[in-house]
Parts: sequence; C-alpha cells; structure tokens
Amino acid sequence: MRTVYVDNNATTQVAPEVFEAMKPFFHGLYGNPSSMHFKGGEVQKETVEAREKVADLIGASPDEIVFTSCGTESDNAAILGTLESYPEKRHIISTRVEHPAVLTLCKHLEKKGYRVTMLSVDRDGRLDLDELRAAISEDTSLVSIMYANNETGVVFPIEDIGQIVKSRGIPFHTDAVQAVGKIPLDMKKSTVDMLSLSGHKLHAPKGIGVLYIRKGTKFSPFLIGGHQEKGRRGGTENTPYIVGLGKACELASGHLEEENNRICFLRDKLERGLLERIPDTLVNGDREYRLPNTVSLSFEYVEGESILLLLSNLGICASSGSACTSGSLEPSHVLRAMGVPFTAAHGSIRFSLSIYNTEEDIDYILKQVPPIIERLRDISPFWRDYVKASSKK
Ligand code: PLP
Repeated sequence: MRTVYVDNNATTQVAPEVFEAMKPFFHGLYGNPSSMHFKGGEVQKETVEAREKVADLIGASPDEIVFTSCGTESDNAAILGTLESYPEKRHIISTRVEHPAVLTLCKHLEKKGYRVTMLSVDRDGRLDLDELRAAISEDTSLVSIMYANNETGVVFPIEDIGQIVKSRGIPFHTDAVQAVGKIPLDMKKSTVDMLSLSGHKLHAPKGIGVLYIRKGTKFSPFLIGGHQEKGRRGGTENTPYIVGLGKACELASGHLEEENNRICFLRDKLERGLLERIPDTLVNGDREYRLPNTVSLSFEYVEGESILLLLSNLGICASSGSACTSGSLEPSHVLRAMGVPFTAAHGSIRFSLSIYNTEEDIDYILKQVPPIIERLRDISPFWRDYVKASSKK
C-alpha cells in the first residue's frame, strides 16, 4: 500500500543524513564530552559544531543555545526558570491556543496560586494586541506566546508582540516548536528573550530540544545538577542526538527556501483541490499568516476520527486536532477558542507537509478524500438534516 505521510506537525521522519551523522556516536564515539581523556575530546568538537549549526538556523550565538530533551522541557524550563528568577511577580500571560506543553503548565500554576491571563483569538485564530496591552501589569513576570500554531499553522506577529512586551520590561518567551525549520527566524533582530524548539519537528529524532536564552536574560535552571550547558541544564549531554539535531538544522538552513516555495505550492494545491471537490468545507485559521506546510480543513457534518481511520486504511496519515489530543472526541481547544461551529470543529482534519512530500502524494489525497466524505455524509444524520433544511429554503 502506498504511504502518504502528511502529519509532519505531529512528528517528522529522521532525515537519512541525520541518521548517518548520529551513528558513530552510539559505538566508537561514545565518550562523555566532559571527560579529560581523548574519548571526551573526540565528541566535544562535534557537539560544539552542532551547537553552532543550531545557532546558525535561528540567528543566535552558540552560547545562547541550551540543549534539552524535548520541546515540552524547553517550554517548562523557560516558564518555571523565569518564575523562579522573579519570585515577587505572580502573573503570567499566554494564549488559549498554546500547545499543552504551555497550556497545561499554566493551568497547573494557576492552581498553585499564580494569576494567569489566557489571551483569546478571533475566528481566524488571530490575537488582539490591545487585549495583550491591557493584560500587562506590574505583577507580570513573563509573557509566553507561541510562534506558530500546531493545529492551524497560524503564525502570530511575534515581533509586534515582543515590542509591546519589551517596552514594559517583561521577559518574552515563544514556543517556536512549529516554526523553526519552516520559516526564517533571526534572533539577532528579534525581541524574543527565550525560544523553544524540538528536534523531531524538523527531521531530527524525538528526545532532543533546545531552549534559546538571549544573553543577559535572567534564568534559573529547571534541571538542577551538573555544570553542563553552562549550569543552565544539568545532565550528561545526549551527544548522538545533539549531533543529529545539528545536522537537521544544517539541512533546514539549506532548504528553508524550498520549504517556503515548493511545500507551499503543494499545500495550496491540496487546499484548493479539496475546497473545489467537496462542498461545505471550511479552512480553519488565517490563510495569509500561516506556516507554508499546514492546512486545517473542516468537512462539515462528519466526524474527523472516522475520516482519519478511512484515510489510514488507504495509507494516508493525517491528524484531527493535534496528535497529543487526538483520541478524545472533544473538538480541540484551539478550534473551540476560535469559535469554529460544532458541526465543523468535529470534522476537522490537519494536513501538514514536509520536504519529503511530492505532487503525486497530493494527487493521491485529492483522489481519496472526496469519496470518503461523501460516504460519511451519506450516513450522517446531521448532514441529512442540513440537506433537508437547505432544500426547504
Ligand atoms: N509546542 C508545540 C507548538 C508543539 O507542536 C509540540 C509538539 O507537538 C510541543 C510544543 C512539544 O514538543 P515535544 O514533543 O518535543 O515535547
């Protein structure tokens, strides 16, 4: 059976070049970079280079890069590390559409007595910056706002947000897990103080992430232990994965343009094709400010989980809501925050592409999806009611 993997916001396949670069670090090059002997020296050089490659991709300096175990750890470290640095301040600002790595932590902190403001979004998933301005207070310790949404691909105006936040002297963190490797970022020109990224979203393996911390940002370590990462994150460095992430960032630096153009072309062809072929289909999220690889569509009056299963039987891997929340039949918190109507939110499917997708993949999806929706609508009581009501008009 043909496999068409269009769930790259959930995770990506490890690039063959990344895998090759990592291999020697599991046997021959197994030293601890902190060791004084030559086995330590052998891996030190490669980890230094990997740090430079990660820094290059986001326009940072290598000593602003802290390796972590995943995007979730980076988000937790940024938020908890800042709160610890400003113990007198008890207010956090974030948004209603964050990934659970931020959202669930904020809810947890709220239970512990912090005041949390969750900014709302409009029907297109956009923020109201006046709401942000109004929310900032003397007590605000941190603003944490995602760069790009994992479900809709909507990209927030991070530099405009940063201007507002920094003008009030408040630390600014962004969860850029979905943005890094897909759109160009340059921390040299940015207002961001801290940025999270995750290896497995850009063709490195799962289990490696980064927290970028701008020089001079007040930060307390989240994992307290050894002197690794200049005392900002204890734990022996995961050298094979660090080298793998370095390679993935190097590759991403080389194909960002391709990501923006070829993938965007494929995504648009897919979106246009499905809208043309399937009536009562909506696009979720701002179509202008969006990641080039993502489209979230709602096929009204059908159940997203059923679409996913039928697609999976045909070798197509997509997602309804985010991978972390699928399995529950509740519409995702992102679509609910956007006010997507019930009949549409339930039938939402996210297609997220990568450099490995081809035009044949898109043609295959365009061929397979319409009959699936037709079949499901034929047995949907909601669709029958809708058709009956429309014919009476
Ligand atoms: N933030 C966003 C926006 C994500 O999409 C994800 C993963 O889907 C994460 C954070 C968590 O990253 P990780 O899986 O590396 O913990």
